[in-house]
Amino acid sequence: MRLVRVALAMPLMHYFDYLIEPSAALDIGSRVVVPFGRQKRIAIVVEFPAQSDVAPQQLKRIISVLDATSVFSDELYALLKWSAGYYQTGLGEVLFQALPVKLRQGETAQSAVDAVWKILPQGKIALAQGELTRAKKQQQALQQLAEAAENGVLQREAEFSRAIYKALLEKKWIAEQHLFAQPEVWQTALQQHNWLNQQDKLRLNKQQALAVSAVCVSHGFQCWLLDGVTGSGKTEVYLHLMEHVLQQGKQVLLLIPEIGLTPQIVRHVENRFKLPIDVLHSNLTDSQRLLAWQRAKSGESAVVIGTRSALFTQFQDLGLIILDEEHDLSYKQQDSGWRHHARDLAVMRAKNNHIPLVLGSATPSLESLANVASGKYRHLVLNQRAMNSAVLNHKLLDLKKQRVDRGLSEQLIALMQQHLSKGNQVMLFLNRRGFAPILLCHECGWIAQCEQCDRPFTYHKKNNILSCHHCDRKTKVPRQCAVCGSTHLVTSGMGTEQLEAVLAEKFPDYGIARIDRDSTARKGALEASLAQITTKQSRILIGTQMLAKGHHFPDVTLVAMVNIDGALFSQDFRSEERLAQLYVQVAGRAGRGSKSGEVVLQTHFPQHPLLQTLLTQGYSAFAQQALQLRQTMGLPPFSAQALFRAKSKSNESAVEYLTALAAFFDDFCRKNAIQGLQLLGPIEALQTKKAGQYQWHLLLQHSSRAVLQHCLAQFSLRRHELNLNRYTRCILDVDPQDF
Ligand code: ADP
Ligand code: ZN
Ligand code: ZN
Repeated sequence: MRLVRVALAMPLMHYFDYLIEPSAALDIGSRVVVPFGRQKRIAIVVEFPAQSDVAPQQLKRIISVLDATSVFSDELYALLKWSAGYYQTGLGEVLFQALPVKLRQGETAQSAVDAVWKILPQGKIALAQGELTRAKKQQQALQQLAEAAENGVLQREAEFSRAIYKALLEKKWIAEQHLFAQPEVWQTALQQHNWLNQQDKLRLNKQQALAVSAVCVSHGFQCWLLDGVTGSGKTEVYLHLMEHVLQQGKQVLLLIPEIGLTPQIVRHVENRFKLPIDVLHSNLTDSQRLLAWQRAKSGESAVVIGTRSALFTQFQDLGLIILDEEHDLSYKQQDSGWRHHARDLAVMRAKNNHIPLVLGSATPSLESLANVASGKYRHLVLNQRAMNSAVLNHKLLDLKKQRVDRGLSEQLIALMQQHLSKGNQVMLFLNRRGFAPILLCHECGWIAQCEQCDRPFTYHKKNNILSCHHCDRKTKVPRQCAVCGSTHLVTSGMGTEQLEAVLAEKFPDYGIARIDRDSTARKGALEASLAQITTKQSRILIGTQMLAKGHHFPDVTLVAMVNIDGALFSQDFRSEERLAQLYVQVAGRAGRGSKSGEVVLQTHFPQHPLLQTLLTQGYSAFAQQALQLRQTMGLPPFSAQALFRAKSKSNESAVEYLTALAAFFDDFCRKNAIQGLQLLGPIEALQTKKAGQYQWHLLLQHSSRAVLQHCLAQFSLRRHELNLNRYTRCILDVDPQDF
């Protein structure tokens, strides 16, 4: 019997040992079915150890082997293993998350069309002895395989149903052999020169051409930051780079933050290349996802377009990774134990594959700009709009000095009137959905709040409910104050739903479209709203951040951010960077056509230095200033951080838990003469309570990423010795992006 060590789909740092017959075919990365307690579980082989800590008589046997060979390419397996170490996550959790759902559930990894059957010696004997005369179809199928083997060809297009082959497989007369389908489908197209839509191609301007040639002449791995202002034609650069790589018969991976909201880029790629393109959007069924996974792996798809998780697609011959909107927060996984950053992993993946990675953005993250400054990334700058477009005016509207009606200043209303009467569209951003963020008692000031989160409920007028935006709890709107019994309940503050109502009142002659999570929850609702905007049935557009992404509406000439004050005074040190990015993105919605545009911000703090730099000198200047500030304060990207996020039903146990962790790190550093590890906490999270759980943080910071990594790794090794309380759940977030 041979020992096999496996990882399960659980947030655990350790593995489990089983036995298997020595002759069984399996490899590291193969999936197996194992007994686990009273259940059967799917597991992934991670090692063939020489000995086990488990007593031999207690070792159980593997029930079955699902894959004779690894379901991961060597390159991807190495990346995932590295990632599990870097993020201090169980390898099992990482490996399973990187597979399509169907494979996690045990579906075969080989696509039916790709199955190649070959006859085994026993099959030949059976055939010769005429054992199948009563099963005509099986006999014919076996006969065909025998002939194929004789002629040295493998049969791909299965003529008989899969059930027939399965029957033969069960008798062990044939075996399934997986051969990668050669990318011949599109190789033929390449040879015939009819794969490229030449009419669609644009003549590159000088900056674009320089960017394209810099990437094309470089060899091996290099990370490029394509830093291009909105409208500078980054898409055309991507398309040219893709063409160059596809021409060589290599595949391309294009990562974007969100597909539903940015369908244009997908359309551009599909228009340009008449090659197999797989788009991994959220409406795919699990089976379709599996198929796409198989197609990429076998080399049948030339291009794969997808969001964060598409990074784990396997390829036959990957030649280029492009990651658009590299600053976007959605690249960081926020809601599981494996809090990885797809951008950072893409860098590793490109490095391991010796291929270029292009990170594109109009508002690069400060992390990436710092990497440019240190020479790790190379900088490609597009600072001119590709098409002639009119100038953009910026204005700060000071809310202090004028009449404001439900969040809208007189000046803004007047501006809207001006733009609308010229036949144009206007767009208003407000990052708060619902009608009002607060419902309170006019008599005594009581606030209706979610007991689970200690936060006010948002009032949703249309559905007449109160909804907690932190835990999603919904409840009926009370008639009376819970404290004094008064029926005089009023709302305070403003959400998009109310903004829509106010504007309908002020501008009764113009159609309004609202785009936020509530208005687009129904399937097809987003598309319907977008269509109304395109046909100009809606002239006033209201939205949350959702609306800021990628749309191209040529008749929008006025864009307004209704309230930005919250972001100026946040405790999260990244909030200013985020505001600047959102501002640039929002501003990019105005004047994309030939008409000149205007961007206005309503604020009580027009003198804020950040706003001033951003508006008068632009994002790059802002970013340099912000980077200097970060350097002075020793914050990322000039230091590395890791955040322990603890939550518990009891405040005390969460604090106790993190205090024990802090003591461990203190002690560890002292004993090992490690200097400079900063520990902050336990501190209450910005959101103290969520869904009935108290949330506390412990922040670790060190100027050296390597030192921080060393401390974390040692912690993981010894965590079980610490005797930590069991009432607390704690997640480690390496390189946290929010607090
Ligand atoms: P970005 O993604 O950088 O904001 P886009 O890729 O959307 O910019 O390009 C903006 C506009 O400029 C598009 O309408 C595009 O067709 C046009 N464009 C891009 N490159 C060129 C070019 N070389 N010549 C003419 N128009 C171009
Ligand atoms: Zn009251
Ligand atoms: Zn809640």
